[in-house]
Amino acid sequence: AKLQQRTGYLHFSRSMGIDIRERVNMMHALRAAFEERHLFVVYQPQIDMVTRLPVGAEALLRWQTEDKTMISPSRFIPIAEYSGLIIELGEWVLRQACQELVRIQRHGFPNFMMSVNVSQVQFRHPHFLSMLRKALEDTNAPPHCIELEITESMAMEEPDALIKLLDQITETGVSIAIDDFGTGFSSLSHLQKLSVDRLKIDRAFVMEITDSSRGSSIAEMIIQLGRNLELDIIAEGVEDERQAKILTELGCPYGQGYLFSKPLTSDALHDWLRTHKT
Ligand code: C2E
Ligand code: CA
Ligand code: CA
Ligand code: CA
Repeated sequence: AKLQQRTGYLHFSRSMGIDIRERVNMMHALRAAFEERHLFVVYQPQIDMVTRLPVGAEALLRWQTEDKTMISPSRFIPIAEYSGLIIELGEWVLRQACQELVRIQRHGFPNFMMSVNVSQVQFRHPHFLSMLRKALEDTNAPPHCIELEITESMAMEEPDALIKLLDQITETGVSIAIDDFGTGFSSLSHLQKLSVDRLKIDRAFVMEITDSSRGSSIAEMIIQLGRNLELDIIAEGVEDERQAKILTELGCPYGQGYLFSKPLTSDALHDWLRTHKT
């Protein structure tokens, strides 16, 4: 019995080991990439779908390995969260985004907004708020032009602590968007208690918009919900004119997606903005 237990254990740890080893390898590679500056931030324009003018951008992290392979953030962000590196990494992204915002505003876009993704690991960190205040102070970024994107699942957790933190963030002037909205199950009554400024319709619901789904689409329900709660709305993953047209008709004023622009490097964003001025 003892032997069986042992082999059972060994078998268990060995099969787990593959996954863990892979994760550990990636963890080391990610840390090295961060230190060697192989990570960079790209910016995807957010536009007013009626005027078609840029109103802001979302900062998105990129990892290009030495052999030029791009590793998707959906693969490495979980590793960064698991290892705790996300604390440093997230702060770095925020500071990069703040600096970029200051540059863009100086170049003729005084009201430009910058959205930054925040991981739940960062969000739960006791120094999150002081980190945010310090980043704003050091970069001179105007807080009212910064938006933090938290996911709907994060917005559903431990109500009291969350309500307090969102209130404190709002006091700094920074606004809050709920990302991937519609993928969770947050109730109207819960949402009402949160200091949230904007809902971001998940790409999955933008994809399923068709003329025939009009009047019953999840996107339309989210737009209605936003209206009832007096929240701003933006749609992500807008890929074609038809989606943009229907979303606009349904009352969604802002959009982000390949139809308007892919995420751009800092230089490419400045070029893009130059050709999209009033
Ligand atoms: P997300 O926050 O939902 O970001 C939107 C994703 O959709 C981005 O993928 C973007 O490149 C992609 N996208 C934008 N427009 C379109 C479109 O029209 N069609 C399609 N098919 N895709 C579009 P990306 O950059 O690969 O990022 C994936 C996820 O990784 C993000 O999803 C976000 O959850 C996470 N992520 C990225 N950067 C950061 C970061 O700095 N911090 C944290 N915590 N998470 C990040
Ligand atoms: Ca996002
Ligand atoms: Ca999203
Ligand atoms: Ca999404």
